[in-house]
Amino acid sequence: MAHVLIVEDEEPLCLLLRYNLEAEGYSVDTCVRGDEAEIRLEERAPDLLLLDWMLPGLSGIELCRRIRARPQTKSLPIIMLTARGEENERIRGLSTGADDYVVKPFSVPELMARVRAILRRAKPEVVSSLLTAGDLELDRETHRVRRNGREVHLGPTEFRLLEYLMQSPGRVFTREQLLDGVWGHDVYVDERTVDVHVGRLRKAINRGRVPDPIRTVRGAGYAFNDQFAPT
Ligand code: CA
Repeated sequence: MAHVLIVEDEEPLCLLLRYNLEAEGYSVDTCVRGDEAEIRLEERAPDLLLLDWMLPGLSGIELCRRIRARPQTKSLPIIMLTARGEENERIRGLSTGADDYVVKPFSVPELMARVRAILRRAKPEVVSSLLTAGDLELDRETHRVRRNGREVHLGPTEFRLLEYLMQSPGRVFTREQLLDGVWGHDVYVDERTVDVHVGRLRKAINRGRVPDPIRTVRGAGYAFNDQFAPT
């Protein structure tokens, strides 16, 4: 499992990132100061660093420079988080040594995709592209889903929904959480849309008399049950 360190002094953003990364199965550590992060990095190098540009203690840029100068962390994957405005213009002109950067406010699903892409490139051993549960198999790389060896054809939203649910087996997601995680924050969709897509997803993966891995939790939302017994 990949370990991600978030260095971000905006607490709500930090929590949002932690929540989403954990939902994708990463182990997460957070830190609000640049100087504190430097000490943390010496203790334990993460597989990827999400680094804010403006930080108390030590700026993200300076920290990035120091990380690149240390042989132990020279090739640590770094994604910089920058605020819209001057800093953003400056960061473009600077060679920060970061692998990628995103401008706030950003779409969480997009950031998650970048995290995955960078990890896949830099640390293929810690990110597996295959999610499996019972006789169900989802390949993130090829976007293929199989049930009992047979290919299942899903639309892009159903695919993302299944991927999102399978990443956190057992966890109950509200419709709102699914909208944020699958459709993204800034998308305006009715919560009933979730039910429609869950319905389509179920129809596609549960052909014939097979157990349904998706559990409807009354008054709460949906969960993926990885203990479903395939016959
Ligand atoms: Ca900041």
